[in-house]
Amino acid sequence: MSLLIINAGSSSIKYTLFESKTLRVIDHGLIEEISDHHEGFEVMRTQLQIHNIDITQIEAIGHRVVHGGERFHEPTLIDDELLEEIKVLSPLAPLHNPANIEGIVAARKIAPLAFHIAVFDTAFHQSIPEYAYLYPIPTRVYESYHVRRYGFHGISHRYVASQAAKALHIPSESLNLITFHIGNGVSACAIRKGKSIDTTMGMTPLEGLMMGSRSGSIDPGIITYLMRQASMSPDQIDAMLNKQSGLTGIAGSNDMRIIIDAADGGDNHAQLALEMFAYRLKKQLGAYMAIMSPVDAVVFTGGIGEHSARIRAMICTGLEHIGILLDETKNNAHETMIHDEYSALDLLVIPTDEELQIALEVKEVLQLR
Ligand code: ADP
Repeated sequence: MSLLIINAGSSSIKYTLFESKTLRVIDHGLIEEISDHHEGFEVMRTQLQIHNIDITQIEAIGHRVVHGGERFHEPTLIDDELLEEIKVLSPLAPLHNPANIEGIVAARKIAPLAFHIAVFDTAFHQSIPEYAYLYPIPTRVYESYHVRRYGFHGISHRYVASQAAKALHIPSESLNLITFHIGNGVSACAIRKGKSIDTTMGMTPLEGLMMGSRSGSIDPGIITYLMRQASMSPDQIDAMLNKQSGLTGIAGSNDMRIIIDAADGGDNHAQLALEMFAYRLKKQLGAYMAIMSPVDAVVFTGGIGEHSARIRAMICTGLEHIGILLDETKNNAHETMIHDEYSALDLLVIPTDEELQIALEVKEVLQLR
């Protein structure tokens, strides 16, 4: 029996096919530049045939859905009614949910016999308490427009938390973690006893830490100031904050490898970008230490979190006073445990695997063994 995991973007479909019992990967691929999702699934049908898999006969398909609003706390079996509910949430994630929905519609068409399950990137954060998810703006704005923190990267934070529990031989339910997903998108999560109690991304994935091309948190007054002083439109501001900011805005690239090389070559903008990036991560670490004492471990994941010893060192150095002691040799070797033996907190590097996490959740919903 096989299990297909789909991540449908606006012009691409990423897929991973698992053997459902062992969760061994049978195939994975990225189908790009598609004009619609039906076309994408036809391409996938041909690619899967190479493995003698008939897409129309696949038993279970897991769909990554970015925004589950307040409605979805867990993976859910998709039917017509549920699809309508996901559509209602589209204004909260206009860049992502419509593409996710098109992917589901096309997949249901090509594989009508399969169980289709939606796994939401926001679901893990539904345990965040009200005082942390509400913004200090009039309550009626929350009530009328659903403006609140939802958080994202939930699939990744949940996965690395479960892997950290395994690595530390401590059950998730008794583990307090700070997880950093540092890729093109960047977010941190405070996880108390296996549950998310706060995260840095907000109503949209724009809030929080400095990212590849997103600004992260800035003074909201800047937006109205630029609308008035520079006559910028909402679309222009949106593009500036989502596409032209973050590492791109300061260093001219969103690729951490290029920025590190440029900084080492004497490029002041690249060096400044590194310092700003790590400074904000370090500040966040301190903030989550404050709300979640005691913390057992800090986990780094995502392209930068997993591979950049430099960034991890910039975050962790100078934090002896809060019990964080990095072992430089282990850090440079990208070992799983990178803390010094005298560190009060464990420091872990754990590669994320969002597809595997979705597959695990799909199996749980269907109670597959
Ligand atoms: P996404 O969020 O799009 O999934 P990734 O998690 O793959 O992105 O992270 C992309 C980032 O990881 C890029 O900034 C890339 O430069 C960085 N990265 C990947 N490998 C390395 C490495 N060896 N050293 C430093 N940065 C790296």
